[in-house]
Amino acid sequence: MSENKRKIGIMGGTFDPIHIGHLVTAEAVRIEYSLDKVIFIPAANPPHKQDLQVTPAIHRYIMTVMATYSNPYFFVSDIELSRPGLSYTIDTLTHLISQFGEKTEFYFITGADAIQDLPTWERVQELLNLCHFIAATRPGCLSTLDNIIRYFGPQGRRRIHRLATPELEISSTDIRERVKKGRSIKYIVPESVENYILKEGLYR
Ligand code: ATP
Ligand code: MG
Repeated sequence: MSENKRKIGIMGGTFDPIHIGHLVTAEAVRIEYSLDKVIFIPAANPPHKQDLQVTPAIHRYIMTVMATYSNPYFFVSDIELSRPGLSYTIDTLTHLISQFGEKTEFYFITGADAIQDLPTWERVQELLNLCHFIAATRPGCLSTLDNIIRYFGPQGRRRIHRLATPELEISSTDIRERVKKGRSIKYIVPESVENYILKEGLYR
């Protein structure tokens, strides 16, 4: 992790909807790793969510833009939305490297649950050559993360890093259920996202 390279954080997700857990985590990693920016990339057709109903991409994209707009270091990319077929992170990373150049270092930001699935990701060994992974986990989850790092051997120790965070007990699943039951989602999502969900009648 050299100092003179440009450093870009990638926050991939379904963002159905984006919530403050995503935002707080991305901001914590940005500061800790001195990232130049964080790019949020909503997934079009997540390989691990094939059997679930996912809200149309345009809504998820708009909510992600609104949620990140006030942070000058946060950006949103539609690369996975404009690419047909399944979205694999390896394809996204390859595209970003061609866009930003070899001199850029990429830091893929994940929560505790996503990092556990890493061994099943498409062409994961190649992926570990292309980017760092920052797993934002609460102190209690550290042993699971250790197992993942060990699984990948020396490359795991070089490429997978942890950032201990007081992980917020927030998930998009819980937010969708709250809306369905008519319960409040105030302060769990940015106000703009709350208003958008209500106006568009999402998750009812
Ligand atoms: P769902 O409940 O629909 O699976 P989610 O809340 O897990 O949604 P995703 O879009 O699936 O959100 O997650 C995108 C990324 O954000 C993943 O790396 C996930 O681990 C991470 N993440 C999700 N919730 C949190 C949270 N509360 N704190 C930190 N990271 C989180
Ligand atoms: Mg999830």
